[in-house]
Amino acid sequence: MESMAKVLLVEDNEMNRDMLSRRLIRKGYEVVIAVDGEQAVTMAISESPQLILMDMSLPIIDGWTATKQIKGHPDGAHIPIIALTAHAMASDRERAIAAGCDDYDTKPIEIKRLLQKMEALINWSVISLYFLIVKFINNFSKKLLPLEAASTSRWLYFELIIIESGYIKNI
Ligand code: MN
Repeated sequence: MESMAKVLLVEDNEMNRDMLSRRLIRKGYEVVIAVDGEQAVTMAISESPQLILMDMSLPIIDGWTATKQIKGHPDGAHIPIIALTAHAMASDRERAIAAGCDDYDTKPIEIKRLLQKMEALINWSVISLYFLIVKFINNFSKKLLPLEAASTSRWLYFELIIIESGYIKNI
């Protein structure tokens, strides 16, 4: 199944931005674009993307600072972020992870490798969200229904959630 996830691409270099966004759109992603760190923070909250691709070297505020701000915001903390940098240095990777990035990739982008990392993070966050919903239904139904019915309805809800999720491919 083609992914329909919304991705926020943060990149100040026009050529990199155009090339990567075109490739992602071709793969079925919805792409929204920010061209500096400040815009990245604003759009992470207003657009609620399912994933952020974050260039680290950016004008106004850099990718590390933008990541910290997004991860520190109640509406942004759950959004997975992949850091993109031209430097393959280990210290850059460590800095990105320390800032709160969930993964890291180096430029020039190798699209197949990046897509694998993106899919892994998107699927994982969708599964986590559904487990949260199931936990909520679980707690809720325990209060309202007798034990047997509660247990049946829980599994029914769980199956519906899995079936209705267009993102989960291999469960
Ligand atoms: Mn840059």
